[in-house]
Amino acid sequence: MSGAALSAPPLLRRVHLRVEGTVQGVGFRPHVHRLAGELALAGWVRNDHRGVVAEVEGGPLAVEAFLRRLADDAPPLSQVERVLVVDAAATGERGFVIAESDAAGAANALVAPDAATCEDCLRELRDSADRRFRYPFVNCTNCGPRYTIVRGVPYDRPSTTMAGFAMCAACRAEYDDPADRRFHAQPNACPDCGPRARLLDANGSEVAGADDAVAGAAAALRRGAIVAVKGLGGYHLACLAADADAVGELRTRKHREDRPFALLATDLAGARELVELSSSAEALLVAPERPIVLAPRRDGAAVADAVAPGHPELGVMLPYTPLHHLLADDLGAPLVLTSANVSDEPIAYRDEEARQRLRSIADLFLVHDRPIHTRVDDSVVRPGMILRRSRGHVPRALVLPVPAARHLLACGAELKSTFCLAREERAWLSHHVGDLKNVETLASYGEGVELLQRLFAVVPEVVAHDLHPDYLSTRFALGRDGLQTVAVGHHHAHLAACLAEHGEVGPAIGAIFDGAGLGADGTVWGGELLAGGLDGYARAGHLWPVRLPGGDRAVRQPWRMACAWLAEALGEPPPLPPALAGRVDPGAWRAVSEMVRTGLASPVTTSAGRLFDAVAAVCGLRTDVTYEGQAAIELEAACDPAERGAYELPVEGGVLDARPLVLAVARDVERGVASGVVATRFHHGLADATAEACTQAARERAMATAVLSGGAFQNRRLLERTAAGLRTAGLRVLVPERLPANDGAIAFGQAAVAAASTTAP
Ligand code: ZN
Ligand code: ZN
Ligand code: FE
Repeated sequence: MSGAALSAPPLLRRVHLRVEGTVQGVGFRPHVHRLAGELALAGWVRNDHRGVVAEVEGGPLAVEAFLRRLADDAPPLSQVERVLVVDAAATGERGFVIAESDAAGAANALVAPDAATCEDCLRELRDSADRRFRYPFVNCTNCGPRYTIVRGVPYDRPSTTMAGFAMCAACRAEYDDPADRRFHAQPNACPDCGPRARLLDANGSEVAGADDAVAGAAAALRRGAIVAVKGLGGYHLACLAADADAVGELRTRKHREDRPFALLATDLAGARELVELSSSAEALLVAPERPIVLAPRRDGAAVADAVAPGHPELGVMLPYTPLHHLLADDLGAPLVLTSANVSDEPIAYRDEEARQRLRSIADLFLVHDRPIHTRVDDSVVRPGMILRRSRGHVPRALVLPVPAARHLLACGAELKSTFCLAREERAWLSHHVGDLKNVETLASYGEGVELLQRLFAVVPEVVAHDLHPDYLSTRFALGRDGLQTVAVGHHHAHLAACLAEHGEVGPAIGAIFDGAGLGADGTVWGGELLAGGLDGYARAGHLWPVRLPGGDRAVRQPWRMACAWLAEALGEPPPLPPALAGRVDPGAWRAVSEMVRTGLASPVTTSAGRLFDAVAAVCGLRTDVTYEGQAAIELEAACDPAERGAYELPVEGGVLDARPLVLAVARDVERGVASGVVATRFHHGLADATAEACTQAARERAMATAVLSGGAFQNRRLLERTAAGLRTAGLRVLVPERLPANDGAIAFGQAAVAAASTTAP
């Protein structure tokens, strides 16, 4: 044949190809193997440090079909970012093989996020004839734990927390067979060789007679017990959602005040009985990320009041591990499934630590012996909006609009903290780490940075941080010796994050509304109009500044903001509003109004979040809060959807003067106007003024794009009406979609700014 080929046209085509993206540990090589087999192509495929490489050889049409279907038919958990193809000389090779991995070089293959149990595994779980019947750790290349169990690279069993489990012969055969669904499924296991679930009492002793730990836990839950359940990314606390005594007891033991509990529905039909689901909400519920989906509570939903006091929405998720599926199947009723922590501590994830911390809360512990390497909370979404981007999403890579010429670390903010690593065009935004003021959270932040650096071979040369010198994330950044530092304003980072998420660099006019962030002038910003892009910005306007009486105390006590805003609007010490009589001590009110007058311990702020607090307090809805954003959430929830009115909020020179608005709120409340009507008029007034201010600022600068971001824009009423106003004025509107509007996206914004401002050495 080779002799004839010298003169004849080539009958065979051979190509060398490289596939980049999330292509390891997700069944990509078997996919290539199958496809080559189907098309009768020869060659090989293997993993290397950058992804998957392969060579295929055969008829030109078959090779073309192969290249077309390579990405189109890719396995569900893979994410093909790029396929590079070069022609090679045909060799006449026969057959197709999966070759040994090449571990050399810098790791660039992307570890996949954890994924919900697939339909095939679920079928085995429920099939009494299957060897994995009721096995709580069934998984395959299309599903199961990934990020939460990985300790290093290459992504191979020894570098996961499955390292301590030796596969039995049956599992090993599956693992080694390219045609098997479990080929190189690193967490592959069965009841003979894998992790085991156990049911323990609060002293750590195994509960007698519980051969089937999950069935034992389900029976206890049915009797009203509170059970700590070790899940994928940490421990949860569970009890029957309809059991008012159990839920009330859980709330008492957990000291969690008013923050709503998430629910685990049995299945989609069960979720539909709890909440009103749009088709997009259903799609989110069943997606492999399996987030908590916020949706309107259904009338008569069989859920105790204490699950989400005062909330018109419930957070619902579907089972995402086999263990959760078994629990849900056994119970046939929705469970509360809330992160196992006390107040602001991070979610518990190590067994001994969990037992110590939770023994006063949980009656029983449903545990297992597969270690969790990284603590990862459940993600939280609404259709079109993500509120917490964590389990199921992390560590999927994001793309920077301006590639990073040097390796970057961006340290984020402080409360809903995340960090971000970047190299070239890729950025990895971490899981939700939480409030860094907690010592344990700060430690896990450092460990997380180390792990992600190793996983993605990022060796930071540049570190980006917030302007606030006292944020622990800033101190962490400045404590890294020898790195070039880039300080990024908090609200600039919000603007940049939204632009970059959409692949844009600006310029745009951004309305960035949140609780607080240190501004360029040293005051506390939070109701900002910024004109600019990744490369810089100018402050084009802001909310009228007021005092923040007592600093952090004003955040916990919205009535203080009512006092500050009324004093500002009246120009004199305000009388205690009738709606607050009997709820706020008149002496304390006078003392706070004195603080406002003198400015003692009362920094100046333009915070939009604090304006929401003030209005909620003047309405009498909320004088004190137990978690961040509570007053604003309740004010939005109170809105009367039938109301069409809007309060006046004049805009002059970019300044949104909310003083007349606050007076109008107080006047209406005094006249007995329903708080739902007042709340709606407030939302409309603020949204209309924001749209007007942005439109003015955009016209002056000949800009065509507006960005709405910052935590306050998680408020849908505010977001939708502002966006509608901007569109009517002819502006293009960008809002956060794949990343949160809140501080969870700050690190990505910092990375985008730093990438745009640093050049290669
Ligand atoms: Zn599976
Ligand atoms: Zn086995
Ligand atoms: Fe913020």
